[in-house]
Amino acid sequence: MEFQELFDMAVRFHGHRCPAMPMGLRAGLAAMKALDVARAQDKELHVISETGMGHAAGCFLDGIMAATGCTYGKSNIEKRYWNKMAFTLVDTKGGRAVRVSLKPEFFEQALKSPFVQHRRQGVPPQDVPVEILTPLLDRVMSIPQDAFLNVSEPFDYPWKAGQACFDVVRCDGCGETVFTNAVTKKHGKLLCGGCVRP
Ligand SMILES: [Zn+2]
Ligand SMILES: [Zn+2]
Repeated sequence: MEFQELFDMAVRFHGHRCPAMPMGLRAGLAAMKALDVARAQDKELHVISETGMGHAAGCFLDGIMAATGCTYGKSNIEKRYWNKMAFTLVDTKGGRAVRVSLKPEFFEQALKSPFVQHRRQGVPPQDVPVEILTPLLDRVMSIPQDAFLNVSEPFDYPWKAGQACFDVVRCDGCGETVFTNAVTKKHGKLLCGGCVRP
């Protein structure tokens, strides 16, 4: 995928234009380059994101997802709720990984931007004036990688792939189908996660 095509796809997927998503896009691509891997079609890559939730830059992770192809649906992404601008990208076949983080001085400066000032005052990202957003986006897209990212050397990360379940049963409680690897037997009944709770 050409970069512009990837960027456009990522913006549509993410829902608005902002600085943090493209930071994640570039960070994801940098991690892939360091490992010399392509975007995941299935679970060739796995992301362990430290980005957490409930802060000004959660959008970063959508950029990482768009770049790497690691998605919530494929379950090849997991979150640590550390609220840090960092992640580890694992090459599951090669058993190697890199950790990437935003440089503190870059990120602290980014949080002082007029975009974030608007966000602090409750302006939704899509309503921040374009004359404020565009120069910030241009900067994120053009700043040299070394000026904003720390990328570790690749390190060993042995990976054991899990087995996907292809079989379902009907839950004795609700009658809905549930994959057999998540049923619980209780008082002689097979129950799904929703029905097993008291
Ligand atoms: Zn965003
Ligand atoms: Zn049920």
